[in-house]
Amino acid sequence: MAHVIDPTRCRACGLCRGVCPRKAAAEAHKGHVIDAKRCQNCGACARQCPARAIEVME
Ligand code: SF4
Ligand code: SF4
Repeated sequence: MAHVIDPTRCRACGLCRGVCPRKAAAEAHKGHVIDAKRCQNCGACARQCPARAIEVME
């Protein structure tokens, strides 16, 4: 289980990258991606995302 970013909604604002305590949210060219191995599912990125682009995937 990890948080994932929907690339069709992401505006590449970078807020998720700034709040992630595990540095799991990283830039991948224009959009952002979350490293599932690092994500500890704290939910901080999802609460910050202005585009509601981040969801939990089982
Ligand atoms: S849920 Fe927490 S650990 Fe996972 S990517 Fe978001 S901020 Fe980082
Ligand atoms: S906070 Fe949301 S819109 Fe901003 S870079 Fe992260 S996923 Fe994209």
